[in-house]
Amino acid sequence: MKTHPAAARHIFVTGGVVSSLGKGLTAASIALLLGRRGYRVRLQKMDPYLNVDAGTMSPFQHGEVYVTDDGAETDLDLGHYERFTGVPCTQASNVTAGRVYGNVIAREREGGYLGRTIQVIPHVTDEIKHYIRLLAEDGVDIVITEIGGTVGDIESLPFLEAIRQFRQEIGRGNGLFVHITLVPYIRAAGELKTKPSQQSVGVLRSIGIFPDILICRCERPMSQEHRDKLALFCNVEPKLVIEERDVAHTIYEVPLDLYRQELDVYILEMLNLHVRPIEMTDWARMVERLIRPGRGTVEIAVVGKYIALSDAYKSLYEALTHGGIANDVAVSIRRVESETLEEKGAENCLSGCHAVLVPGGFGDRGIEGKIAAIRYTREQGLPFLGICLGLQCAVIEFARHCCGLAGAHSAEFAPNTPYPVIHLMDSQISVRRKGGTMRLGSWPCHLRKDSHAYEAYRKTPIAERHRHRYEVNNAFREILEKNGLRITGLSPDGQLVEIVELANHPWFVACQFHPEFQSTPLQAHPLFTAFIAAALKTRESGKSPPHA
Ligand code: GLN
Repeated sequence: MKTHPAAARHIFVTGGVVSSLGKGLTAASIALLLGRRGYRVRLQKMDPYLNVDAGTMSPFQHGEVYVTDDGAETDLDLGHYERFTGVPCTQASNVTAGRVYGNVIAREREGGYLGRTIQVIPHVTDEIKHYIRLLAEDGVDIVITEIGGTVGDIESLPFLEAIRQFRQEIGRGNGLFVHITLVPYIRAAGELKTKPSQQSVGVLRSIGIFPDILICRCERPMSQEHRDKLALFCNVEPKLVIEERDVAHTIYEVPLDLYRQELDVYILEMLNLHVRPIEMTDWARMVERLIRPGRGTVEIAVVGKYIALSDAYKSLYEALTHGGIANDVAVSIRRVESETLEEKGAENCLSGCHAVLVPGGFGDRGIEGKIAAIRYTREQGLPFLGICLGLQCAVIEFARHCCGLAGAHSAEFAPNTPYPVIHLMDSQISVRRKGGTMRLGSWPCHLRKDSHAYEAYRKTPIAERHRHRYEVNNAFREILEKNGLRITGLSPDGQLVEIVELANHPWFVACQFHPEFQSTPLQAHPLFTAFIAAALKTRESGKSPPHA
């Protein structure tokens, strides 16, 4: 057997029976535990679809597009990875079949294969293994590779074959397979059923993968009998049949649940790694605070276009929750479809809430609803946080109603507007291709010291992640500022408006970047902490607009 050059250990996570089992959360939880045992852990997601990355996919189909510091547009599972472990992901953390095939085909066109026939095995599988190895560089101890999709899907086969080969090459003690599966409760029979899991493991075994650990998602507790049965049929030790029951309150309970079952200990033992001590009290305290906050509830309205699917604003909803943890208050989210707000009016949709958030987005559907919502927060003195498109709408609203620029708009939605207060960035004018061409990733921003933003961050410059093509048109800066829009965050060269605020308003902050991507439950993002604090103030002052 060949030994692999890198000393890193590998954990491969697959999913069976159905999708949406929370593989990403489970992988992130395992990474958290191993990281807290003193190991350097890196996570990676392999997605079997043919898009080169998630950047071109609709949030309605695939949920939020997560953005890394280095500008990768990725699957939302990477958000879980970062929130649980605090370790930033990179371009190498999300690999799709589209990227893998694209590289192989490009190399073939360049003559890189010297006349050979290009095949799934070994050329595509080699390319996949290359990406697994990439993460194992620079002193990383453990790489966790999650394979997207469900075992049995046609398109995930090359990925499964690649991890089978990889483990073969590094040897048993250096890599292990974790299979996450569903143990459904059948109400009519009053029983949990293990058969789907047995069959899913059967499929894995037929392609040469023998799972070492089985993690069973279930809504009811499993008995010893279930564990023994699964252990017998799936050929794993009974103690390695781990129960992952639906959590009662929050996803942040998952690591505690797995820790209680000593999953991390078993993993380290199987990988021949020392079981170092672990500290989980801060995490447990955070979960406790989240479940039982001391200061009641604030209600935050989120006015957006992708409201129907909660995954579409995953990081945003998490960041709001984090802001709640930091303020010891529960955050209840009122999801408002911006088109509904257009029909029913801001008053009807927003009254009674303690603050309003308008998130990022693309396309003109529902834009007027967002603008109406912002006008309402401005006029009512309701705390407001605008993100990306939310900032752009705030500027449009202010231009129209406070600067006398009737018909002001974004050139994205109204190319012929007399007042294009939002327009295409210079760097975007010649861009034709769609994928990966926006202003992406982390960029520095200088803050004005007399601002809500600085009060929240307490430092300058800051660095935040971006994903946009349009920006505030500098030709309108003077008139906007003259009328009371404060530009409190700028790119280092002063050319790009990154944050705007309102003078004469309790808390109105909008940013061109996406702060939600950098928020974690242990360290809420400063803007979200300040936003929720402002909402709490509205609640306590009793000044929130009354219920309609
Ligand atoms: N559509 C806007 C732009 O491209 C906003 C993007 C966003 O909200 N992420 O600039």
